[in-house]
Amino acid sequence: MLIDTHCHLDYFTDLERPDVLARAALSGVSEMVTIGVSLPQSAAIRLIAEGLPNVWCTVGIHPHNAAAEPVPDPSALAAMTEHPKVIGIGEAGLDYFYDKAPRGIQQASFRAQIRAARLAGVPLAIHARSADEDVARILREERDAGGAFDFLLHCFSSGRGLAEAAIEQGGYVSFSGILTFPKSQDIRDIARDVPADRLLVETDAPYLAPVPFRGKRNEPAFVAKTAAVLAGVRDMTPEALADLTRANFRRLFRKAAA
Ligand SMILES: [Zn+2]
Repeated sequence: MLIDTHCHLDYFTDLERPDVLARAALSGVSEMVTIGVSLPQSAAIRLIAEGLPNVWCTVGIHPHNAAAEPVPDPSALAAMTEHPKVIGIGEAGLDYFYDKAPRGIQQASFRAQIRAARLAGVPLAIHARSADEDVARILREERDAGGAFDFLLHCFSSGRGLAEAAIEQGGYVSFSGILTFPKSQDIRDIARDVPADRLLVETDAPYLAPVPFRGKRNEPAFVAKTAAVLAGVRDMTPEALADLTRANFRRLFRKAAA
């Protein structure tokens, strides 16, 4: 069985979601994490997770939304993870590709969410796009200033240097459908070299459907396609890859008890 470490179930309608979940189950996806992108939306996805035994959620502010609400107070954000279905913080990070919020505000929001993750003892899901050096720098500065914290780089599409910086700091790396794209040889090369105990898989649904569904709306069921490619890259059976990534998920997301 596979776990989709990062998806957006609230981007499907209430009518669509039961079918999406049924197809996930048929594809061997036993659990999924639906991700917070703003504080009001995080409250809404918590309701989705409360109603579904195999769905977890996070609470956080996407870098696109960093200027739309105040920089969160780390203690208040950490307190929101006391709910049993809230197993992480994020997605937080830096997106210098779209630059939808001023970079200084993105950085302040990212740092506040790192501090919340450390306080709460839950992992931070990090979104990094065209910002490798600043993400690596902030991870390092926050660790040096305040101590270690758990995190994963979600939907990995950055350079090798950021993957190495994350791994050096105890971070995990989660691969999405991008891994399956013909042009993604550099991502596959990095995926081959990530330590086995730091690998995760995700869809980022409804975005970034893997081959052979590219261009269609993505959904958690399709994580099996990404996992199959990752198993090939790692020269493992799909079953062994599923076992490995499930064990990694449980180690990182400690609240998601089996
Ligand atoms: Zn993201």
